[in-house]
Amino acid sequence: MFFHKFCIYADIESLTEKVFSAEPSNDKSFSLQTEIHKPVAYSVLLIDDNKNIVYHKFYCGLDVISNLVLSLQNISKAVLKFMERNVPINENEIISQNKCHLCGKFFSKGNVSVRNHDHFTGKLLGKASQGCNLNYKVTQFLPVIMHNLSGYDSHLILKEISSDLAKRMKIIPVNSQKLP
Ligand SMILES: [Zn+2]
Repeated sequence: MFFHKFCIYADIESLTEKVFSAEPSNDKSFSLQTEIHKPVAYSVLLIDDNKNIVYHKFYCGLDVISNLVLSLQNISKAVLKFMERNVPINENEIISQNKCHLCGKFFSKGNVSVRNHDHFTGKLLGKASQGCNLNYKVTQFLPVIMHNLSGYDSHLILKEISSDLAKRMKIIPVNSQKLP
C-alpha cells in the first residue's frame, strides 16, 4: 500500500492580451489580430494527508512562471528533506486489535500482527499483518495537481523547467475533463 504524505495544488491566472501584427500585401494592407494569455498570478497550496494546509503562497507580479517553478522546486526540496525523518515507535503504546487495520483480515498463527507506525511522528497507526506492514510505504513522489495544465498553461511551464528537473518529472494526464 502506497500513500502520499503531501500533495501540491497550483493554479495560474492569466490575462488575455491583444496582439496586433500587420502583414504587407500588394493590393491592400491589413492587420491580423490575435490574443495571448499572459500569466499574472499564481497560487500554491501544500496539503498534508490530514488535509491541513501546510504552506500557502500567492504571487502576483513579474516572471510568474519562473517564480512558480522555483517555488515548486523549493517546496519539493523541503518536503523530501522532511520525509527523511524516521521517528521510532513509542514502545509504551498498546493497542488491542484482532484484525489488520490495513486489509481487515483477522490475525492468526499464519497471519501474525506487528505494530504499524507513522515514521514522521512515531505515532502508532494500528496493528497490521506482517506483509501489509512491509508493503506500507510512503512514496518519495510529490504529486502536483495543476488546474488546466492540459490547456494553455502547460507549455509556459514546460519552457521554464530545466532539462535536469524534467528528467525527474512525470506528467500524468489524470482527467481530460475541463472544469468550469
Ligand atoms: Zn493486512
